[in-house]
Amino acid sequence: MLRLSKLFLRTLRDDPADAEVPSHKLLVRAGYVRRVAPGIYSWLPLGLTVLRNVEEIVRSEMVAMGAQEVHFPAMIPRETFEASGRWNDYGDSLFRLVDRKGADYLLGPTHEELFTLLVKGEYASYKDYPVTLFQIQTKFRDEARPRAGILRGREFVMKDSYSFDLDDDGLAASYQAHRDTYEKIFTRLGFDYRIVFAVSGAMGGSASEEFLAPTPAGEDTFVQCTDCDYAANTEAVEIAGPPPQDGSAQPQSQVLDTPDTPTIATLVERLNSLDLGRSFDAADTLKNVVLKTRAPGQKEWDLLVVGVPGDREVDLKRLSGQLEPVEVEQASAADLATQPGLIKGYIGPQNLSELKVRYLVDPLVVEGSAWVTGANVADQHAVFVVRGRDFTPDGEIGAVEIRDGDRCARCGGTLQIARGIELGHVFQLGRKYAEVFGLSALGANGKPSTITMGSYGVGITRAVAALAEQTLDEKGLCWPREVAPADVHVVAAGKDDTIIAGAEQLAEELEAAGLRVLLDDRRGVSPGVKFKDSELLGVPTILVVGRGLVDGTIELKDRRSDERSEIARDQAVAIVSSIASPTAKPTPNPTPKPAPQPTPKA
Ligand code: ATP
Ligand code: MG
Repeated sequence: MLRLSKLFLRTLRDDPADAEVPSHKLLVRAGYVRRVAPGIYSWLPLGLTVLRNVEEIVRSEMVAMGAQEVHFPAMIPRETFEASGRWNDYGDSLFRLVDRKGADYLLGPTHEELFTLLVKGEYASYKDYPVTLFQIQTKFRDEARPRAGILRGREFVMKDSYSFDLDDDGLAASYQAHRDTYEKIFTRLGFDYRIVFAVSGAMGGSASEEFLAPTPAGEDTFVQCTDCDYAANTEAVEIAGPPPQDGSAQPQSQVLDTPDTPTIATLVERLNSLDLGRSFDAADTLKNVVLKTRAPGQKEWDLLVVGVPGDREVDLKRLSGQLEPVEVEQASAADLATQPGLIKGYIGPQNLSELKVRYLVDPLVVEGSAWVTGANVADQHAVFVVRGRDFTPDGEIGAVEIRDGDRCARCGGTLQIARGIELGHVFQLGRKYAEVFGLSALGANGKPSTITMGSYGVGITRAVAALAEQTLDEKGLCWPREVAPADVHVVAAGKDDTIIAGAEQLAEELEAAGLRVLLDDRRGVSPGVKFKDSELLGVPTILVVGRGLVDGTIELKDRRSDERSEIARDQAVAIVSSIASPTAKPTPNPTPKPAPQPTPKA
């Protein structure tokens, strides 16, 4: 039983100054976490209880799916990450350190390398596979913008698991098993979640989906089709463009003097005054944005020009998701100066191949479409510049900022944009790491084949913040029962001994019935303060023991709905027990796979 008279807890009336999102404010005010440094937090007893509850749900479902738990060190020698290329690829997000002998180490941001090496060390035959291993461990990432308390930390707990299969069908099955398990996990945790297509980023690989918790505080934007079940992270979304056009039907391109047209709006106005046989708007202009890219390990940046319709912005996050591990940034004036052929404000694609500058267009710039664009001469624009006739891009890349109302690439329906928090990620890593580390299995025919892997993560600490975010209200935290720090919060609302003793007695009975009890037995704290604290702390059921006790009644309150009722003291244990059905067991796995017998290595 947790007694507030002794619990290591100080609730705060005021929001912490550095907190932007509601969950961060409340987790600090309710005494769940305390900040040590940016993105680095300590967990206090109530917070730790919630964290452990989340962890246990994740662990039990992983075990139920047949995954086996292991534990790796956080500290990893440089050579291991050098072999996979991630010592460089991870860039500034990697925490690197040096030991007393001058050897380099890093603090693991994820553990693909170590899992691959571990399996390689133990398994050699096709008979050993498939196998799935997981760990629940502290990860370190020097995030550029640690944010929202524990939502984006620099030190955080993650469940990461890895599947090892002999072939693509096996990988597909392991991936599906994880996806199913994640559905069970996020359902049990009490999340409202969506599964969206994702890009796999630095890790490469094929199938990749994210589990997102929709909330305005989320950093990820995703789209959902209102007509079909398509949902994707905006970094990975594909939108339907117009059909290809017949460029030969367009008039010859011509160059026009367009001085004093500093913006797309002024340019369009000028064009419409020129009687060119048609009208123009911003969407008819081709905006060419100069960026720069740098491949991992490379020192120099290369210029990259990206063409998008002029009524759209370039979405750098979406671009970088697709280009990873290649870095991409806006080019500076100094970068532009390295290529005098690029005339700021008048860049057109007509001469980019001559200049040997890489040029990509958004798929909205379809083959055969005609554009107004820069003429690569100051104060001049060109009209009727046709893709495929007047310029040929080096390729396409989804670059535009997605808009509410864009068309679904699957069904042509309407896409809606929402924000969410990434809770978990499942993806098919493939053979990248197995190839790097030489992980293969001897087949029945005596020939080795490379193992194929999947990689799967759940943010445990992030789940605590995300759940808080999705469930809180104006009064405080409001935990789903399975993760709540207690089932019932008993408030002794009064100073006299009979009330304190009565609450104590009730709390003991509740505990004896198997319930997790938080008892506010503080003397000298007013009932008003105790009520406020009970709302702030967020235990789902609250029992108030007050003056009614002499008549045999207490108050039962539901934290979420705020519904209150007088109940008979004698009925309290039975009533609360029925509300708080005991913590659910892991969802049974309908078809448990027989565990493969490890073959000893020769
Ligand atoms: P994000 O895009 O939010 O940075 P990620 O794509 O880097 O996440 P993964 O490498 O797939 O994340 O990690 C698996 C899970 O770990 C994520 O789904 C998320 O829940 C959690 N996670 C990742 N970074 C952090 C962080 N800095 N703080 C807390 N949890 C994190
Ligand atoms: Mg990240």
